Amino acid sequence: MGADGRHALVLGAGLAGAAVCSALSARGWRLTVLDAADGPAAGASALPVGMLSPHVTRNPTALSRLSAVGVAAMRAELQRLVPPGAGWLDGEVDNRGHDAGRWPAARVRPAALVQAWLHQALSTGLLTCQWGARVAALHQADGQWQALDADRRRLAEARAVVLCGAWGSHALLHASGLASDTALPLRPVQGQLSLGPLDDAPDAARPQRDSGVFVPEYTDSGLAPAWPTRVWAMGSTYDRGLADTEVTPERHQRNADSLQALCARAAERMERQRQAGHLLGWAGVRCASLDRLPLAGAWVDEAALAHTLQRPRRGKLPLAEVPRHHGLYMLTALGSRGLTLSSLCAERVADAMDGTPSPLPADLQATLDPARFAWRAAYKA
Ligand SMILES: Cc1cc2nc3c(=O)[nH]c(=O)nc-3n(C[C@H](O)[C@H](O)[C@H](O)COP(=O)(O)OP(=O)(O)OC[C@H]3O[C@@H](n4cnc5c(N)ncnc54)[C@H](O)[C@@H]3O)c2cc1C
Repeated sequence: MGADGRHALVLGAGLAGAAVCSALSARGWRLTVLDAADGPAAGASALPVGMLSPHVTRNPTALSRLSAVGVAAMRAELQRLVPPGAGWLDGEVDNRGHDAGRWPAARVRPAALVQAWLHQALSTGLLTCQWGARVAALHQADGQWQALDADRRRLAEARAVVLCGAWGSHALLHASGLASDTALPLRPVQGQLSLGPLDDAPDAARPQRDSGVFVPEYTDSGLAPAWPTRVWAMGSTYDRGLADTEVTPERHQRNADSLQALCARAAERMERQRQAGHLLGWAGVRCASLDRLPLAGAWVDEAALAHTLQRPRRGKLPLAEVPRHHGLYMLTALGSRGLTLSSLCAERVADAMDGTPSPLPADLQATLDPARFAWRAAYKA
């Protein structure tokens, strides 16, 4: 590809978009980020505190293997770019149910890493950001992808585009006539975190996880002014199919019930703060795929796939050979694992865009391939 070919639009500036910017700017790509919000990390990545921890299983699964690689990659990025206490704190978690035991776990405010990644990409001079830029449709003309607003005005264009809009990517691809429901089985999953100020000793020595995670103490100079600098937190509710960001008493109550089972003393603190009007809450929308794994790579050209499959061939068409829309990539459906998987998936997208071999084993690359749903459906029909 020529110099102009290495210019990409990145739609969305949460963990996914910022990780892609970091990976691509390090490889010399020129980038234009567009986000509907006024600044970075305005969607699910605005979460005040989340957990970066491995998904441990007795026998290895795709997710446990991806998460082992992903956790190491994210830790390295945090250590490289974010000072402890200003966006993350290292530690451990006690798993009380599934995968029982004590595991390494960092508490992380995703926005700190998003900002650090974007700052690093900006410092290369290769990144431009357009805030307040809601992309309503994508249109391909003369080999360029155009990002259009609701009035079909051109916001930006480039030879390549990476969709990092989480649940927003779903509407965008549908409105652009670029995806069927079968090829893109995504859904929103609403979640609410309950949190409050912590002015004395924490109620447990380390985070506790069963159905939900209780973080007894998190201190972060970057939490203010939206939140107190030192907080406890309990989360998160998990409402499939809902896409609102309303904080409600009913969702607090569900977190309170989970907290009661994990740490009765902390549940009492939560109730005291609720009665005093000091209980805080944050709600966001995760984007999950049908098989709960992210979509990272080049997007399928469904019409070309149907055409290819009409031709006689011996054996199945390998997934890696499924036809793609030239220059159209995505990193979405990070679900509840954006902190674990965004860096790993962004490198996978960057490898696909550069045409360089991925260090991931082929079977793990296949589990992330955005074309997998269309490919599976084609052979089921
Ligand atoms: C309550 C809750 C608790 C969670 N806890 C954890 C946790 O403990 N550990 C963990 O790893 N993960 C956790 N997650 C998940 C994590 O927050 C997400 O996986 C991650 O933030 C997703 O990042 P993203 O960049 O894909 O999406 P987002 O951060 O949502 O970013 C998407 C961006 O795209 C923009 N956008 C969308 N559509 C358009 C459009 N058409 N035009 C322009 N811009 C657009 C939005 O404005 C937004 O900025 C939690 C999520 C929730 C809601």
